[in-house]
Amino acid sequence: MIKIGVFGASGRVGKLLLEDLKLTENMSLSCVFVRSSLDFSIDPSVLVTSDMKAFLSASDVIIDFSLPEACESLLEQAIQTPKPLVIGTTGLSQHQLNLLKNASEVMPILYATNMSLGIALLNKLVYQASSALEGFDIEIVEMHHKHKKDAPSGTALTLSESAAKGRSLDLDKVRISGRDGNIGARSKDEIAVMALRGGDIIGRHTVGFYNDGEFLELNHTATSRNTFSKGAIRAATWLSQKPKGLYSISDCLDL
Ligand code: NAD
Repeated sequence: MIKIGVFGASGRVGKLLLEDLKLTENMSLSCVFVRSSLDFSIDPSVLVTSDMKAFLSASDVIIDFSLPEACESLLEQAIQTPKPLVIGTTGLSQHQLNLLKNASEVMPILYATNMSLGIALLNKLVYQASSALEGFDIEIVEMHHKHKKDAPSGTALTLSESAAKGRSLDLDKVRISGRDGNIGARSKDEIAVMALRGGDIIGRHTVGFYNDGEFLELNHTATSRNTFSKGAIRAATWLSQKPKGLYSISDCLDL
């Protein structure tokens, strides 16, 4: 039985994770981290704590869907108390990404800006299309619910990395995130990543390849957040057997 600790348990994805864990064989929820108290009831066998060290010690694998600053404090403590970590939090700063990389030198970490199988495959397809469709303009549009804090989404940024890699481009030099005013014609290599926010959209990503005479659009829509919680559970099972190191969702899915 793999004991799972959930970080961000009261969030939109975290709550589903608790439900999905109940339905998962060979896995049990051992611990949740809280800042003050939980606003819902939980099985009394589960440790509810605001002591990060106790939280890490009580679990075999931690799953995190929180916020960048919270994820940072988890990583800092995990370096002292190493545990396999499945990190789903997006919007990490460069400093936080460096911390994550350093932490993976002492524990196994799977970091995925999107835990779904469809997006993992989409990243492969985008890489392939970007390199095969020479001269096509690449534009990415993402749509999310009105509560989402970071923009563009971590998934859209990962997709733009796949697109840039397919053309051996430095993403930092070619990515733009908006157009306004008399900006002139589109430059050849630019990759636009645009964010739309509204309503309760769980997540929709379109990667378009546009040429004179034809265009190709690859689209993924998440219709349920359980896609992410179930994906994270699958990743946690896989990660529990791995040595220290930094892993991606495609390592876990063997794509
Ligand atoms: P949410 O705002 O509903 O939940 C955030 C959770 O983090 C809450 O439980 C909150 O209590 C907790 N939290 C906030 N600050 C904290 C702190 N300082 N210490 C400890 N806990 C703290 O958000 P959500 O929609 O559940 O998404 C959570 C994260 O997961 C976001 O970064 C989101 O972009 C990302 N996400 C990732 C995927 C994926 O597949 N990787 C999918 C959906 C969302």
